[in-house]
Parts: sequence; C-alpha cells; structure tokens
Amino acid sequence: MACNHNCSSCKDGNCKDRKDFLATPKESTKIKKIYGIVSGKGGVGKSLVTSLLAVASNNAGLKTMIIDADVTGPSIPKTFGLNENNRAQGSDDGLFPVVTKGGIKVMSMNLLLEEETMPVVWRGPVISGVVKQFYTDVLWGENDIAFIDMPPGTGDVPLTVFQSIPIDGIIIVTTPQDLVGMIVEKAVNMARIMNIPVVGLIENMSYVKCPTCDEKIYIFGESKTELKANELGLKLLKQIPIDTKIRELVDAGEIEKADVSMLNDIVNTLKGE
Ligand code: ADP
Repeated sequence: MACNHNCSSCKDGNCKDRKDFLATPKESTKIKKIYGIVSGKGGVGKSLVTSLLAVASNNAGLKTMIIDADVTGPSIPKTFGLNENNRAQGSDDGLFPVVTKGGIKVMSMNLLLEEETMPVVWRGPVISGVVKQFYTDVLWGENDIAFIDMPPGTGDVPLTVFQSIPIDGIIIVTTPQDLVGMIVEKAVNMARIMNIPVVGLIENMSYVKCPTCDEKIYIFGESKTELKANELGLKLLKQIPIDTKIRELVDAGEIEKADVSMLNDIVNTLKGE
C-alpha cells in the first residue's frame, strides 16, 4: 500500500514506516519501557492513574519519569506539589526535568509557564511539537520506565505522540459509564492502527467505598466493563474506587503518600513486558 503519511486513515497494521517518524532523544537519554496512558475523554482520571502508576513504579525501585503530554490541561505538577518554585531549568545541552520529592522526573507545560493559570492558546501542530520536544530536548538521563499522560481523545497530539515516541504499550483509563460508549473503542482502534499494543484497561471511579462500613456503593450501577473489555479482547487490569483520601492527597500535592500497593501487579507486568 502506498504511504500517504496519514496514519489515522491507514489500515496497514504492519506498517514498517512508523520508525521513520520516530524522534531522536538526547544521547544521554535511556528509557527501558515507555507507556502511554490514554482515555476517550477528559475527566475520567487519566492523570491520576498516570501519577499512581508512576508512584507505584518508583516505590518498586524503578527509575521513573512522567511526560505530561496533556499540554492544554496539565495536572501532573499540582498532583506532585510542584509549583512556581519548581520551574524547569535549562542549560546549553537541554532542559532538565523537575524531580519530585520522591525522585520521579517530570516534564510538563506548567513547569515552563511563568504563571500556571495562563492558558496555552496554540493550535494542534504547535502543541504536538512541544510534546515531541518534551521527549527530544529534555535531559532525561537513565530511566527504567516512562509514563506519558496523553491528551484525551484521538486527535492530532495523541497521533504525533504515537508516531514519534517508541511506545511499548498503552493503558486505557475509563469509567463505568464511559466504556459502553464508542469513544473508548476509538482509542483502542487508534492504537491498533498504529500497531501499538494495548496492555489493558483500568476502570476508575468503579465504586465508592463507604468510609464507615467499607460497603461498596456502585453509583453508576454494577460495571459492565469486564464484559465490554472481553468483547474488545482487552484485559481489565484494575478497578479503582472513588477515594476521598486520594482526592485529599491530590489537592495537597502529596500523591506520593498514597497507598498504591493495589497497582504493584500492574507495575510488575509493565517492567517485564
Ligand atoms: P483526566 O486526566 O482524565 O482529565 P484527572 O485525573 O485530572 O482526569 O481527574 C479528574 C479529577 O477527579 C481530579 O481532581 C482527580 O483528583 C479526581 N479523581 C479522579 N479519580 C479519582 C478517584 N478514584 N478518587 C478520587 N478522586 C479522583
């Protein structure tokens, strides 16, 4: 099939040309495994899951980094308590990532803006270029595992990230009522078209755990995610409840204090995949 360089409309899952689009990072940058965290739409907890997975990896002794590719809605820095006092610094060689209290390296648009409340009013191609630069121009050093907090949906920026960064797999974050729609399926299909393995699904906000009696309350009704995941040929990796403790830690910028032991099995899978 003749390549028109438009991967979004190409059905050639075995395309060998994808490597031609790959960007080249700094010579000193070494990343053993790279995973994209995606969602069909915003607000389902994609950034939170990215942060929790990074914390679990870091706790497991893996050298961990996060690329916050959600350029117009970056929420990773705040979750880790990084603010105006933690701006990214540059040198002639490139930009240094900001390091969290626990030792996770982060690059995000909000670490570059003078005021974090200023909106990024750029068009898609410019935003995609910035995300690419987060990979190519940052002095990441040696890392065991990288998580990319992708912008929601299947637009320009996810496409560029999929094309230019050698992603080992994606994890799709969904909520119980989100999965029954077709948006998640679009994300799955996009990854398949781009020939990127889908590690599995994480269902967030699956239920609320009553703080006094531990009863599980399914506010969206009993989840159909497992059924739907099977239908799509995907693994349901975890169901995460709405947890007021997590929300408090996010608000306080102390996500590294969260109990993330429930994600240890996923981290084990990711480091070995
Ligand atoms: P997305 O990246 O998909 O837009 P976020 O990760 O920013 O979504 O989550 C949206 C909001 O919901 C954030 O304030 C986040 O802290 C909160 N949130 C997400 N998942 C949970 C959860 N399981 N328990 C408590 N709060 C959550």
